[in-house]
Amino acid sequence: MLLSFKTELKPNNKQLTLFRKASGIARHAYNWACATVQEYLTNQEKAPSAIDLHKRLVAEVKPNCEWYYEVSKYVPQKAVADLRTAWDRCFKKLGKAPRFKKKGQRDSFYLEYGTVANPKIRNDGKRINLPSIGWVRLAEPLPMTAVHNCTISRQANKWFISVKQEIELPLVASDRPSVGVDIGIKELAVCSNGEVFSNPKAYRRMSKRLKHLQRAVSRKEKGSNNRTKAIRSLAKVHARVSNIRKDAIHKLTTHLAKNHSEIKIEDLSIKAFLKNHKLAGAIADCGMHEFRRQLEYKTQKFSSQLILVDRMFPSSQICSNCGNHRHKMPLKERVYKCLDCGHTSDRDLNAAKNIQRWFAGIRIPIRVDQMASFAKIACGVDKPSVSHSRTTPKQEVSSKFRQLSISNVA
Ligand SMILES: [Zn+2]
Repeated sequence: MLLSFKTELKPNNKQLTLFRKASGIARHAYNWACATVQEYLTNQEKAPSAIDLHKRLVAEVKPNCEWYYEVSKYVPQKAVADLRTAWDRCFKKLGKAPRFKKKGQRDSFYLEYGTVANPKIRNDGKRINLPSIGWVRLAEPLPMTAVHNCTISRQANKWFISVKQEIELPLVASDRPSVGVDIGIKELAVCSNGEVFSNPKAYRRMSKRLKHLQRAVSRKEKGSNNRTKAIRSLAKVHARVSNIRKDAIHKLTTHLAKNHSEIKIEDLSIKAFLKNHKLAGAIADCGMHEFRRQLEYKTQKFSSQLILVDRMFPSSQICSNCGNHRHKMPLKERVYKCLDCGHTSDRDLNAAKNIQRWFAGIRIPIRVDQMASFAKIACGVDKPSVSHSRTTPKQEVSSKFRQLSISNVA
């Protein structure tokens, strides 16, 4: 299985300048290619391939921009190829049209040396020899001695190298249980076996400091050195927030994938959730998308299975004890009380247990309040036809029926 490793680099001043130059060239090539493709599209012509774009770049742009020759030729070539992939995703309606890159945001570039069979980007555990840059210090040793390509990127004031490595799947215990996980807001996750992972709420914890620093940035004059400094310290705190969040999610997903044979989670539509503004901040804060992404590759790594529970399954409304009772559970209600069997449980734990029980085609009980309205309708209609009695609970509460029952009562 191919996994990527990312670790920090400790460049000296000269190397830092080269990193910035390479990022600048990658951005320039990307933006040039983006504008070129846009031109083709406005002329209603077919967008050129990545190879054609690169040929045009070499013929038209490189002779006018000598600084292109200061870095590896792969830097602009990969940037153009990435841009073309982004357009492909857009054409297939998988993503939005790529936008122009702004200076100082998402700095990164790609390097290549040697072939897959004969990788030439070597490292001695302490330093790595990057083409056209030289020996750069590593913050920690890489798991391999040579690679064929790598990506270098910046977050706040730190530079990182990312490399891919084929790994052997680790051995795991054969008798691992299955688990249902309720991803929440109050807690990061509650498992069906009662384990609770608390939410670090990094953003909320740091929001005062972030606000303060954000204000400091907006008070400084545009283009001034002081503003650059303020932006830098703001970026550091943002990076810290993101690291705290990532750390918590990594620990959780590794634990889940390593110790369970089946992990069931709700297939939540994050987009729909984020539209609810009351919840948006909290959900974005616990990084649900990242949670799912990590579980996907970690279950592969630990030979376990990720099962997505149907998003229409009312996991919080059903009693996990008897499985027959179901009532409405507004978000503020934290404890589930079953009116049939008398079972009481924490809201999230109850939901997690239901998620663990779920399988495709599971019987979903009718909600109590819907049962009442069903009874009313049945009484109101004089002669319920066969089709009426066969209708599903969802159809029973349709507005058409409600009107019918009202008019009959009147
Ligand atoms: Zn019950």
